[in-house]
Amino acid sequence: MTPQPVELRLVAEDRLQIVWSDGEKRQYAVRELREKCPCATCRERRQAPPPPPTELAVLSPAETQPLRIASMQPTGRYAYAIHFSDGHDTGIFTLESLRTLGEAVDSGGGG
Ligand SMILES: [Zn+2]
Repeated sequence: MTPQPVELRLVAEDRLQIVWSDGEKRQYAVRELREKCPCATCRERRQAPPPPPTELAVLSPAETQPLRIASMQPTGRYAYAIHFSDGHDTGIFTLESLRTLGEAVDSGGGG
């Protein structure tokens, strides 16, 4: 049985924390989630060959802004749709994938 998120919280503008029903606490850089976006468009983009080194990547104005999560909503029982501040909102992150992303953090408060 897949653990369920019991608490979702932005611990920083660009950092999401999820506490899971099995007690695990994980933090995710918003940038990482955006880069791991599982939607078809992003998958295709990741599989595309990198541009030749003579070509500078041009960032759109949205891409130069700090990336944030605009909203995050449960989709079905086993996934979350994340709407990023750059306008991208087609990424559906399954709970399984969220368990493999980010990094586990210690819940100990140290006193
Ligand atoms: Zn995407």
